[in-house]
Amino acid sequence: MTDKPSSDVAQKRATLLAKLADASARPPTLVAASKRQSDERIDAALAAGHRVFGENRVQEAQSRWAERRTQYPDLELRLIGPLQTNKAEDAVTLFDVIETVDRPKLARALAKACEKLDRRPELLIQVNTGDEPQKAGVSVTELSALIQLCRQELALPVIGLMCIPPADEPAGPHFAFLAKLADRHGLQQRSMGMSGDFETAAGFGATHVRVGTAFFGEREH
Ligand SMILES: *Cc1c(COP(=O)(O)O)cnc(C)c1O
Repeated sequence: MTDKPSSDVAQKRATLLAKLADASARPPTLVAASKRQSDERIDAALAAGHRVFGENRVQEAQSRWAERRTQYPDLELRLIGPLQTNKAEDAVTLFDVIETVDRPKLARALAKACEKLDRRPELLIQVNTGDEPQKAGVSVTELSALIQLCRQELALPVIGLMCIPPADEPAGPHFAFLAKLADRHGLQQRSMGMSGDFETAAGFGATHVRVGTAFFGEREH
């Protein structure tokens, strides 16, 4: 296998942007899910003009972006993986958007960190639309209460919802449901869709799709 990360990544990115433009009159923002990708590929994405990245782990993101952040002031870094309360301050320091708020304890930890650091990343609430016991995300029945806690008591900037549908079900109904929940609560951003189903998500009104392997190629282990 020949490895020419710069042309490969630039080409994959261009293909994805074209597919998104075809899938929707208002194409979603392409979030490059960069977990476990090489520095070469990250730098190739940056060289191609990409600026919006999603990371799963706070620590991995810190080492990857600390320096590049100063090089690229127009970066947008989004946390798309689960967040532990003891990492709330680190997350608030690094990320522009945190997509995975899913419980009151985490919302309170983030509010405290925002206050202390005087920094307010925008927040999405992750919804467990498939009610999967092993999966992160607030249950649909507890969503309203969590939104209310964030907005009213904690004054946190909640601007959208995020979901990861069950792997063994068609994703479309989950995307449609998330869009409906977002409408109901007056939330603008809908982060949904990955490498296998981003076009479906775009068709159901995603504002952000999180694409890893189709953007960069297979992940390292
Ligand atoms: C890894 C990951 C993605 C991207 O997955 P691909 O299938 O590689 O596109 C998207 N969202 C989340 C939350 C992820 O963890």
